[in-house]
Amino acid sequence: NINNGINEIIYGNPSKEKYKVLVLGDSGIGSKTSFLNVLVKNQFDYNNYGTYEGALSSKKINLNNGKELTIDFWDTPGQEKYRSLIKLFLKDIDCAILGYEVIRKESFENIKTFWMELLKESSDVDLIYLVGNKIDLFEKRVVEENEARKYCEEKNIRYFEISCKDSIGIQELLDDLTNQLTKI
Ligand code: GDP
Ligand code: MG
Repeated sequence: NINNGINEIIYGNPSKEKYKVLVLGDSGIGSKTSFLNVLVKNQFDYNNYGTYEGALSSKKINLNNGKELTIDFWDTPGQEKYRSLIKLFLKDIDCAILGYEVIRKESFENIKTFWMELLKESSDVDLIYLVGNKIDLFEKRVVEENEARKYCEEKNIRYFEISCKDSIGIQELLDDLTNQLTKI
């Protein structure tokens, strides 16, 4: 279950009340819409219908020193025809969460080529995450954790693996994100 209250390990000193995080990556990876549904509504659905505009999911976090912050997560469409929309959304963000699915090589290759390039040319954001989703489908897995980790170490990207379906790794990612945001 995703923690909606006090986080144990977080005691940062946020410089803002609200942080803006953009969630990006190919269509169907699940680490955008499904991830935000689990994070904010604690709900997983096998039948998501695609995303056709920017959609806001806000999450309030209570730090254990009594401080509070809000993370505004913006969901985005993965399809190519929405690229100009994404460029607009890339302005003024505190963090970008890129995602891929570990069962589809192309979704990882597109991170290395297309998505990182788009990010670098349209944003000066320093805090970047890569999230490998669908680790519950381990028999179908084609991108190895080591490969993704190595890439992220080279590029100074924080790496997490998750399953939205089984709610694995999501709380850890949220805690790390909160900690990192309070250091901005
Ligand atoms: P996104 O918005 O591009 O991230 O993709 P969606 O959230 O629409 O998810 C695409 C499909 O993947 C949907 O059918 C989801 O139910 C499914 N999905 C999402 N996360 C997981 C997961 O962790 N495991 C499995 N097996 N399926 C998932
Ligand atoms: Mg979506």
